[in-house]
Amino acid sequence: MTQPTTLPCGESFNLAEFDPSFSGGMERKRQAKAETKDNLEALLDLQARLYAENRHSLLVVLQAMDAAGKDGTIKHVMGAFNPQGVRVTSFKVPSKLELAHDFLWRVHRAAPPRGMVGIFNRSHYEDVLIVRVLGLAPEALWRKRFDHINAFEKLLSDHGTTVVKIFLHVSPEEQAVRLQARLDTPGKEWKFNPDDLGARRQWADYMAAYEEALTRCNTPWAPWHVVPADRKWYRNLAVSRIVRRTLEALNPSYPDPEPGLEAMVIPPVHWP
Ligand code: AMP
Ligand code: MG
Repeated sequence: MTQPTTLPCGESFNLAEFDPSFSGGMERKRQAKAETKDNLEALLDLQARLYAENRHSLLVVLQAMDAAGKDGTIKHVMGAFNPQGVRVTSFKVPSKLELAHDFLWRVHRAAPPRGMVGIFNRSHYEDVLIVRVLGLAPEALWRKRFDHINAFEKLLSDHGTTVVKIFLHVSPEEQAVRLQARLDTPGKEWKFNPDDLGARRQWADYMAAYEEALTRCNTPWAPWHVVPADRKWYRNLAVSRIVRRTLEALNPSYPDPEPGLEAMVIPPVHWP
């Protein structure tokens, strides 16, 4: 049993139709973990080929409400990659300098160069999400950003960057459990931010903003996926599947050896 994670381009995302607690009929964590492990091993091999080929790059964009598991996904799924070939960028409230530029300025600089995997923990989508919900910019300004985003992602794609965007879909009930755990667990309190409660109160507004962003920016060159995130083990499985499939479609290969190498023998060095 599966739940589609994406929709054909042009169709409207209605998030109420995606079940955040969906677990593919797998009741047992163990079954999911075996497949996840297999996917993570495949990711490491695919990444090694991506790096060696040095032609394409992969950008994974993670967006979600607080406590939906962006950090956990980076740790448990993206952790499979060789750190040398990955760069994680977390987008926070923009600095003065960042605000003095267009909204894509800080994002473009963080795009992965050839051979690399880039992970965005939040992204340029904040500029049509929190900015919209909190009214940080006039509607006439943020509304134009859907086109700017699509053009920007097309530019990345034309350059050889495969863009895959993942919305971790958590329910408000599960978010409550996780935020409460942050308050109640020693060593986790630092993660609690009272502003998260404000965002929680505006849940419906955020979902409406997400639905429009996902719908307007679900393009053939940069599709959106909705991943059920109430169960961490299923979330990890679903994300590992999406990233594996994406890299497999890219099918990076090791470059052919230079001609003449077959006969070469490394000469000895006598030392000391
Ligand atoms: P966290 O990811 O929990 O460390 O929090 C980062 C905060 O920065 C979140 O509340 C984001 O919504 C906020 N943020 C990220 N990008 C922007 C942006 N472009 N404009 C306003 N707030 C942002
Ligand atoms: Mg937070």
